Amino acid sequence: MRRIAIMGAGQAGLFLAIRLIKSGYDVTVISEYSAEELFNGPPTGATYLFDDALQLEKEIGLDLWRDTAYHASAFHINLGTPGGNLDFAIRSRTSKPGASIDQRLKFYQWIKVFQKHGGKFIVSDTTPSDLLGCTSQFDLVIISSGKGPLARLFPKDVERSPHQQPARKLVQIHFNDFEQPGHTRFTSITFDAIMGAGEVITGPFYQKDDIQCAFMLMECVPGGPMDVFDDCKSATQILERAKLMMQSVIPWRYPSLNNASVIDPSAFLKGSFTPVVRKPFVKLNSTATVMGLGDTVILNDPIVGQGGNNAIKMAHAYAQAIIEHGDNIFDSEWMERTFESFWAYSQHVNHFCDLFLSPPAHVIDILKAAEHNPEIAFDFVSGFNHPPGLFPWLSNRETASDYLANKLAVSAFEI
Ligand SMILES: Cc1cc2nc3c(=O)[nH]c(=O)nc-3n(C[C@H](O)[C@H](O)[C@H](O)COP(=O)(O)OP(=O)(O)OC[C@H]3O[C@@H](n4cnc5c(N)ncnc54)[C@H](O)[C@@H]3O)c2cc1C
Repeated sequence: MRRIAIMGAGQAGLFLAIRLIKSGYDVTVISEYSAEELFNGPPTGATYLFDDALQLEKEIGLDLWRDTAYHASAFHINLGTPGGNLDFAIRSRTSKPGASIDQRLKFYQWIKVFQKHGGKFIVSDTTPSDLLGCTSQFDLVIISSGKGPLARLFPKDVERSPHQQPARKLVQIHFNDFEQPGHTRFTSITFDAIMGAGEVITGPFYQKDDIQCAFMLMECVPGGPMDVFDDCKSATQILERAKLMMQSVIPWRYPSLNNASVIDPSAFLKGSFTPVVRKPFVKLNSTATVMGLGDTVILNDPIVGQGGNNAIKMAHAYAQAIIEHGDNIFDSEWMERTFESFWAYSQHVNHFCDLFLSPPAHVIDILKAAEHNPEIAFDFVSGFNHPPGLFPWLSNRETASDYLANKLAVSAFEI
């Protein structure tokens, strides 16, 4: 039986571990925290998953909150001017719903599932010096420790990493009494963008104590009018500051927060990081090589909610490749090949994220057209689930203008 070690009990590592253990592999997960410590620890990113990623979880029996968590099936996208005026708004349904489950609850439950199927779970903070020992005991060692220090072992892929510094300061809270003014509760993702200031993303969130609430992720451009949270020390303070900020920066959103209160004053997330793509493997010596997975090697800003979706899809792709490789050696050529075939997909994910961090004029043109054209709106929101579907038409001015000419000619003809 082939022996696989996975460092990091997160979205990607646990998915891969459970997928492989269910396929008859001998799998060991090494985690810096126990299941209970993860459950009781600080919140992680909201990690809203779209349908394709949810389906992959379902295929291996990990859709544990299918019937309990709200699933959203609509997008509301609003774009405002720096003066606080709403420029245009897009409403569209998605073809299938998505959901956001508190990763503290998800990882806790997934670790239990993994152990129930015979997986070995070891609590240890892996250091670079532990890795060499691991490679002699296992056929394959995967590092899925997120953006933590182990990731830095993997060299940066300069050509695929355009960012030199964080594009946004991230601030996230979980709250209740969230209402879209005059509309449904919890059933849509709302994305408010203000040029030069940042974005506010809200959506349904199934909190770890089985509380259905909402998350709010604020993507603040450093030094801009949304960058006002540095001194906030609790979720309550963040919410109060967000209300003040919204009155001038996103006044149309402010009424939805009128009755809001936070779920847990100590549960909030504040920070920033630089998006980066890394080489997929590290050679520890002439024979020992370890492979990276998830945020460890492809780290994007969460602006369009792709990191967790990508982590699941990447873990699924790695699992397929491991199984197809049979009893052959997992050498660096295999690792490179496996990663590159996933990159054929992820290059579009990365491009989507980067386009939204500083949207060029052709992206704004498409969004404006989507306000009055349901087909364009649907094409666009479907891209969140499957970013390759956005390209090539969203790539540049020429492709976008061809796409728009085509779509608008069709709708004129239909009228
Ligand atoms: C604010 C915010 C909002 C987000 N919102 C979304 C969203 O809406 N949709 C979406 O798809 N994505 C979102 N993301 C991104 C998403 O959360 C990540 O991309 C995803 O969790 C990455 O999965 P991973 O398995 O690579 O890493 P993680 O899920 O971070 O797991 C890594 C694990 O490794 C463990 N670990 C770290 N170091 C070690 C070590 N040395 N030894 C052992 N274990 C270790 C950690 O404890 C952790 O459990 C968001 C991220 C942020 C920051």
